[in-house]
Amino acid sequence: MKKPLYAIDTSNRIPEQTSISLLGATGSIGEQTIDIVLENSELFSVDVISAYSKVSELSAIADKLSAAGKPISACHIYDADAHALAAKDPVLAGKLLPAGDEGLQIAASWESTDTVVNAVVGAAGLPPTITAAENGKRIALANKESLVIGGDLVMNAVNGSGAEIVPIDSEHSALAQCLYGRSMSEVDSLILTASGGPFLNHTAEDLQNVALKEVLNHPTWNMGQKITVDSATLMNKGLEVIEAHVLYGIGYDKIEVLVHPGSIVHSLVRFNDGSLLAQLGEPDMRVPILYAISGEIHHHGGSDRLDLVKLGQLNFEKPDEARFPCLRLAKEAGIAGGSATIVLNGANEIAVASLLAGSIEYKDIALIIEKALEQTEVVSVDSLEQAISIDRKSRILATEIVAGL
Ligand code: NAD
Ligand code: MG
Repeated sequence: MKKPLYAIDTSNRIPEQTSISLLGATGSIGEQTIDIVLENSELFSVDVISAYSKVSELSAIADKLSAAGKPISACHIYDADAHALAAKDPVLAGKLLPAGDEGLQIAASWESTDTVVNAVVGAAGLPPTITAAENGKRIALANKESLVIGGDLVMNAVNGSGAEIVPIDSEHSALAQCLYGRSMSEVDSLILTASGGPFLNHTAEDLQNVALKEVLNHPTWNMGQKITVDSATLMNKGLEVIEAHVLYGIGYDKIEVLVHPGSIVHSLVRFNDGSLLAQLGEPDMRVPILYAISGEIHHHGGSDRLDLVKLGQLNFEKPDEARFPCLRLAKEAGIAGGSATIVLNGANEIAVASLLAGSIEYKDIALIIEKALEQTEVVSVDSLEQAISIDRKSRILATEIVAGL
């Protein structure tokens, strides 16, 4: 048979079964990962599932996998009190790893696991990303905070062990798809798209007074609470600029953000000759999850087919960093480097938790982060212990700033 044009042989990249360790199994990305595994049970199995504290949810996931003929080997609950409850759960008990970091490290380095899906939210995701990297795993990475606070540490661990990161974040998955088989020397710049969040058309005055319920009402994506708040402040896009800088080794002056309210174009690569490649699709995280866990293969499944005629048009505009200062703060922290992105992230996590607890308002978030950054000196970061220590100190500082508002 004649070899079709562009038929690259990918057979060496398709293992018979990919076995997964799923960190953050009870969250938005975690649940969608389980659905994809169950829909493609000939391709995937799950070794370990891990969550912070939701015992009955984790037990239900273990049950579901077992009923599908895909029993897990082990499970992990981070929180000590919830762990004690899990030890009495008939489904989880015999398979329970130790609570806290110890169990999380075991889950992230599980021997028969090929792919660690890190769908933990926040800075807690950094240690297991590094463990998975040191153990040569493929890391399907949703936890962007890992790269924001420990970019160099993670990339050094990846390069030292032959591990691999495939991003789950939709923008970075889009970039990975556009860059597949290319050299970064062909690339002029990266363009990250942003939905603009629920307040895209709010004036600066409107933004002084928004309710939590409005903050949590994202127009295009249905996600966990923390990233939903980050999307409303555009901090999410700021974190993603840093994530793109780390993953693709490209300067901040070569990363552009465009607001694209429909969330159809997930990001674009501009090449040296002016050519632009974009990845388009329905806003559906199942596509980047499937792409990442299968090692960059476009399998059947994913999302509904996009109807371009029905869509009609695509719109883009410049982000307004005056109304959304978190985007500016993140870029500035990225350029400052070292400890600055850890402080940015730690202060943001405290601000978001305070907003969700009802103790601050939306407009205070950027203020808290800016103050925290102003009050800390930028130092270089050489170890995970140092990164964790700076993270802790930045949280204490941000908590004090919140109390002083
Ligand atoms: P979520 O809040 O729905 O779920 C978070 C998961 O992390 C839960 O299973 C929770 O039990 C677990 N977890 C929290 N703290 C933990 C700890 N200390 N130790 C172990 N497990 C812990 O969050 P999500 O929306 O699924 O987002 C997860 C990550 O993926 C975030 O970094 C987010 O930015 C990123 N992401 C999410 C989406 C999305 O559509 N939800 C899209 C892009 C990127
Ligand atoms: Mg994203």
